[in-house]
Amino acid sequence: RAKHAGRGKACFFDAEMDAAVKARREIENELRHAITRNQLFVNYQPILDSRSGSISGYEALMRWNRPGHGSSEPDVFIKIAEESGIIVQLGEWVLRQACTEAARWPQPLTIAVNVSPVQFMLPNLYDRVAAILEETGLLPQRLELEITEAAFVRDRKATISTLMRLHRLGVRIVMDDFGTGFSSLSNLRALPFDKIKVDRSFTGILEHDAAARSIVRAIIGLGHSLGIQVVTEGVETELQRQIVTNEGCEQMQGLLLGKPDIEPSVKMAARESYLSTHEKAQKTVLLY
Ligand code: C2E
Ligand code: MG
Ligand code: MG
Ligand code: MG
Repeated sequence: RAKHAGRGKACFFDAEMDAAVKARREIENELRHAITRNQLFVNYQPILDSRSGSISGYEALMRWNRPGHGSSEPDVFIKIAEESGIIVQLGEWVLRQACTEAARWPQPLTIAVNVSPVQFMLPNLYDRVAAILEETGLLPQRLELEITEAAFVRDRKATISTLMRLHRLGVRIVMDDFGTGFSSLSNLRALPFDKIKVDRSFTGILEHDAAARSIVRAIIGLGHSLGIQVVTEGVETELQRQIVTNEGCEQMQGLLLGKPDIEPSVKMAARESYLSTHEKAQKTVLLY
């Protein structure tokens, strides 16, 4: 676009802008109705314990089935939802869905939910989270809230105070996408973070890039020296898995280990019913 403008093709630029603005407004309008029209759903991606390889929890990821467009890119529609404020409703909806779902899982499994910086601008975010925990019966210790450092840019003091209160309630606080954007070490010191997520842009180049490996090693070391657990996201290959495990990262997440998928409780129930049918079949065999 800037290229067109640079050549002085003002009309072309305007037309393109118009179309982009129109497309955005359409997305915005449709998003406003996405919940009531049942177009929104949640996928769950497993987070594994590096050592044992077992699932320690899941991250809830918002999905939008936009009519005529198929599944929409979260990076795109979430940005629009944030800029228009709609993320407040969408975020609360995802939180409620995810907590309801997690309350059905075996006790130790945790649920991680992304919270937008825009949600931190609400004066009552703490009360909303507490109310949803109450309503769904999920123990606060099983909920992880993932926030990015962009949350500290607007109202740093209010964000810190909300995080402190949530942490005191027992909710785990996770810094998402660490190493990108505004990464500031003072945030780690001043705030009650329980976990850091190494951004997947580092994971993707670990195998070929000594500098990326040094950065990941430094993040893990920093986290550990502050008593904070480290998760690596975007693990796609066996070699990446080995590298981050050797570096001492506690947990990992990525396509190699499990992709975002439907409610785990649905899969658990299907397995239960398969097992019980199987058992019945075996008993029947024994009877004859
Ligand atoms: P995120 O929180 O960092 O989530 C991880 C993203 O990495 C997800 O993208 C996930 O599908 C993707 N991913 C997982 N494993 C791999 C892998 O091995 N390789 C690669 N290349 N990608 C992997 P997704 O679902 O498209 O979400 C993108 C971003 O949108 C999220 O990044 C998060 O910032 C935001 N988002 C998603 N759901 C929500 C939500 O409910 N609320 C808010 N505020 N933001 C959300
Ligand atoms: Mg996340
Ligand atoms: Mg992330
Ligand atoms: Mg992200």
